[in-house]
Amino acid sequence: MTQRINILYDIYLNSEKSAISKNKHSDVNALLVFPNYYNVAMSNLGFLRVYELLNAPDFMSCDRAFLQDFNNDERTVYNNRGIISIERRKNILNYDLIFFSLSYENDFINILKILHAENIPFLSKDRQQPDINGSSYYPLIMAGGVISFLNPEPVAPLFDIMFVGEAEAIFPDFLQIVQKHFQSLKKNKQTVKQDILEESSKLEGIYVPSAYDFIFSKRGVLEIPLIENVIVKTSYPEKIKRKWLDYGFTPSISSITSEYAEFSSMKLIEIARGCKRGCRFCSAAFIYLPARKSSIKDVISGIAKAEEFEKIGFVGLDTMDNEYIKTYMQFSLEEKKTFSLSSVRFDCLDESNIDIMNRAGLKTVTLAVETGSERLKKIINKDIKNETILATIKKIIESGIMNIKAYFMIGLPTEDIYDIQETIALIKLMRIQFVESSRKNKRIGKLTIGLSPFVPKAWTPLQWENFENEKTLSKKINFIYKELNNLPNISLNINSVKSAFTEAFFARGSRLSLNILINSFNNNSTIKKAIIASGYKIDDFMRKYSTEEILPWDILDQGITKNYLKEEYDRALKYKTTPGCFEGCKRCGIC
Ligand code: SF4
Repeated sequence: MTQRINILYDIYLNSEKSAISKNKHSDVNALLVFPNYYNVAMSNLGFLRVYELLNAPDFMSCDRAFLQDFNNDERTVYNNRGIISIERRKNILNYDLIFFSLSYENDFINILKILHAENIPFLSKDRQQPDINGSSYYPLIMAGGVISFLNPEPVAPLFDIMFVGEAEAIFPDFLQIVQKHFQSLKKNKQTVKQDILEESSKLEGIYVPSAYDFIFSKRGVLEIPLIENVIVKTSYPEKIKRKWLDYGFTPSISSITSEYAEFSSMKLIEIARGCKRGCRFCSAAFIYLPARKSSIKDVISGIAKAEEFEKIGFVGLDTMDNEYIKTYMQFSLEEKKTFSLSSVRFDCLDESNIDIMNRAGLKTVTLAVETGSERLKKIINKDIKNETILATIKKIIESGIMNIKAYFMIGLPTEDIYDIQETIALIKLMRIQFVESSRKNKRIGKLTIGLSPFVPKAWTPLQWENFENEKTLSKKINFIYKELNNLPNISLNINSVKSAFTEAFFARGSRLSLNILINSFNNNSTIKKAIIASGYKIDDFMRKYSTEEILPWDILDQGITKNYLKEEYDRALKYKTTPGCFEGCKRCGIC
C-alpha cells in the first residue's frame, strides 16, 4: 500500500505547477487535510488559499493530505492503514496541528474514514488524554471552510476548534497565539495545546465546540423542537461572531495547479465574495454578505502572471454583476487567454459582454435558471421573466457561442405539478430558441439541462422549509425525464436524490446528526437505517422547522438578524420579491 500511494503522490507532485515548496525546519508542523480526493481538493480555491496562508509564516510549514483510495473495499482499506501527507509522506499523527478544510456536507463521512484510519478517537473530548500508545498526545484538530460558518454542528464535536468566517481574517491573530505557545512551551505539547485552545477562544471567529452543551428532547417522547437548550461554559461567548475581510480584499488565486486537478489548465481568480441579489435559497450569497469585490489591482496582476495557463477561471457568485468584469475579460483577451465564468445571471448579459466572451473563444455559457414557474420565481426572489431568458439564449447562440448549460431546481417550497409543467414548458421553449438561433449559425451545439433537488440551507430565508419527500422528488424527476429525454439537442443531467438527501440531512443537522453518522459508519449502514436505529424518524430531520425553535446554527452570529430572515421567509410565502442590497440599506443587520 505504502509503495502504491508513494508512486501516486510522486506523480501528483511532479505534475504540480508553481508548487509551494517549504523544505525548511519549522517550529510548527501543520497539516491541511481535505476530506476528499486529490483532484477535488486541488480544484478548491479555498483549500489552495489556506495552504498558502499556513505556509506564509516563517515559524510554520504546512503539508497536505487527502482521502486515500487503495481499492474498492473502503471498509477494509481504512482498517489499520494510515493517511500520509503528500509532501513529506509523514503520518497524520506526526504533525503538531491538523486543519481540515470543509466545503461539502457529503464529505463528512470521509472525515470519519480519515480519523479511523489513524485510530484517532472521533470526538474531541476523547482526545484530551495521551494517545492509544500512552506515549504521545493528539494534535489540535481544527476545521475551517464554508461549512464551519454555515452550520458546523453536525461535525462540531469532532474538532477542538472551528474557524467561523474567512481564514484570511482569522488566521493573523490565531497564528500569533500558536507561535507564542509553541515557542515558549515546546517541551510539553499537551500544555501548548490547552493554552492555544484557551487563549484563542477569546478571539472573534474561534469556536470551541466542547464549551457548548446542546440539550436535546428525550428519545421516545420526541417532539418538535429537537433542541431544548444550549448551555455555554463560563467565559465562552454566547454566540460566535463570524469574521470577514473588508471591501477590496486580496483575492484567492490558485497557487498550484496539477493536470490531475479538475480545472487543470485554468488559473482560478476570485473576483467577488457574497452576492447582493438576495436569492432566498442561496446560502453562499447570505453567509458571505456584505457582497464585496476583490482588489482590482490584484485581479489584473493575477491575470498578468498567469503565463503558464491557457485559461482564467473567474470565481464569484454573480460574475457578470461585477462592474469590472468587462475590464477583466478584455484584459484576459489582450493577454491571449480564454476565460470561464463560474455563474452568470440572465439580466446582466449585454451584447458587448457576449461579444468579448465570443472573441475569447468561450464555447459554453452556464446559466442558473432555477425554475420556469412564475409563482416559484417570486418565492425564491429570482424573478427573471421567461422572455428575458429566451432573449438571452438567442443573443448567446447568435453571437457564435455554441453551448448552453442551464440549471434548474426541483422540490422548491410549495411546488406542485403545475410548477413542474411550467418548467418543462420553459425548457421546451429554450430548446426551440436554441435550435433556431443555432440554425442561423449553420452549426448546432448542446443544450444541457441540469436538475437538482432543492436543499434548504442554514442562514437563508428558506432555512425553515422541508426537504421534499424522496418519492415525490423521484416522481417529479421521472415526469420531467419522460417529457424531455427524447427531444433532440437536449442533454439531461440529473443530480441524485439520494445524495441530495444526505446533503439535506447534514445541512440543517445538529450534534444528533453526528451520533447518527457515527452509528452508520460503525455499523456500515445507511444514514436512513441509522436514523431509525437511533430511535428517530426520517421526518425529524427533513421536516419544516418552526420559526420559533432553536436552530443548531443559532450558536453563530453571522451578522444577519434572525428577524430579517423571518421577514424574508414571510415575504416568500406571500410571493413578494425583495430588491437586492442598496446604498444606505441597513435592513439585514450586516452593514
Ligand atoms: S444591510 Fe442591506 S446592503 Fe447590507 S448586506 Fe444586508 S441587505 Fe445588503
